[in-house]
Amino acid sequence: MCGIIGISKHKEAAKLAYLGLYALQHRGEEAVGVASFDGKDVNIKKDRGLIADNFKERDLDNLKGETAVGHTRYSTTGSSNVKNIQPFLVKHKKRSIAIAHNGNLTNTEELHQALEEQGSIFQTTMDSEVIVHLLARAKNGDIKKWFLEVLGQLRGAFSLVFMVEDVIVGARDPQGFRPLCLGKLDGNYILASETCAFDLLKAEFIREIEPGETVFIQADKIESIFLPNAKAEKKAHCIFENIYFARPDSNIFGDNVYQVRKRLGAALAKEHPVKADFVMSIPDSGNYAATGYAQELGMPLEIGLIRNHYIGRTFIQPTQFLRDFRVRVKLNPIRSVLEGKKIIIVEDSIVRGTTSRSRIEVLRSVGVKEIHMRISCPPIISPCFYGIDFPSKNELIAANKSIKEIADFIKVDTLEYLSREGMRSVMNNPKNFCDACFSGEYPVDIPKNQSKYLLEGVK
Ligand code: AMP
Repeated sequence: MCGIIGISKHKEAAKLAYLGLYALQHRGEEAVGVASFDGKDVNIKKDRGLIADNFKERDLDNLKGETAVGHTRYSTTGSSNVKNIQPFLVKHKKRSIAIAHNGNLTNTEELHQALEEQGSIFQTTMDSEVIVHLLARAKNGDIKKWFLEVLGQLRGAFSLVFMVEDVIVGARDPQGFRPLCLGKLDGNYILASETCAFDLLKAEFIREIEPGETVFIQADKIESIFLPNAKAEKKAHCIFENIYFARPDSNIFGDNVYQVRKRLGAALAKEHPVKADFVMSIPDSGNYAATGYAQELGMPLEIGLIRNHYIGRTFIQPTQFLRDFRVRVKLNPIRSVLEGKKIIIVEDSIVRGTTSRSRIEVLRSVGVKEIHMRISCPPIISPCFYGIDFPSKNELIAANKSIKEIADFIKVDTLEYLSREGMRSVMNNPKNFCDACFSGEYPVDIPKNQSKYLLEGVK
């Protein structure tokens, strides 16, 4: 998963892209990059790690120009090596193009093979590079026709921001898997994955880029075109953005993420109430559903786990003595709240089950008497091919174990999940969502080669 941002015509374009990426950091913590166009050249700074660790004042001063594009990366195709950090920059026919991509293409292998047969030499192992090669080969000179020709060949999930010299191009696949939002800042347009970036920059949220739409932005001018038949395509917004991925202070897919999560929690409470002393969440991701759950049942909500916000990256190799250091450094239980209590613990989802198991162990260590775990989505049974890093079926605990077996593995007294119907019922326009990770019903054909490393020859 990734976060993307584009700024058009602003004296501080790169600084704004950099600041906006702070609000999009949750979408990718592996690597970060900003590119700017200064009227002649493209300047770029990208590196592994977090935004705060990577950009010095001098880097930002070097990123001159009034147009900028930024990216935070969480690799879902290609490994996390340096070459795969975005924005990805190419020069073709004296024109510089920078690309920032969120989502996974599903026809990468076919496109890649065809391009290689025609002589393309690839520098990275990312699906996104395929797009720039297609741009380089497209016949149409006019920018709009040029992009239509290329974007029409892509299948799967793509929210894209391009910087073509001083033009910012934003595009979204016809299903609208990933979010992409349009805002205005000091009279000119900007693009970002989520509206929380606009709040930080004091930009006005205008609207979402529509599924299948491509916009061409130059300062306060915007032109929009649609891929043929895009309006007729069935929409497939990623329901997991609402459940876990997006920030709760963002408005995406026509709704506020915080409110959706609370509604998920309330629906869960209606389906699976249980008697206990109080409700609590696993912070932070479970906070919102836990609030909805407690409010629905009129139960007290307690904070029994305290999150340490200063952990950054820990390079300490755990010794036997500090075996569970990583778990304990992040969340610490409050014995006075928890000892001897019967609790309902609300979590947004279970993927592998390993984190949940460690958290429960921590709670047991301070003497919690009964633990009833409630999950604000259905069991995750199928991998995602559209941009969420859900591993293969054999790593997904719910694809291999019954709910009772998962409860035994995590060591909770009871475990219940929200039903698929319950989850869908709280979405506005439930038909417009992809929930393939819960149902195995994929709205767009999935790739034949399903390896994340398919362009690296790794099986
Ligand atoms: P676990 O118990 O190990 O499955 O971890 C569960 C927590 O990790 C939940 O808060 C999940 O929402 C969160 N999570 C979200 N996305 C992923 C992912 N792609 N892989 C692993 N864990 C994830």
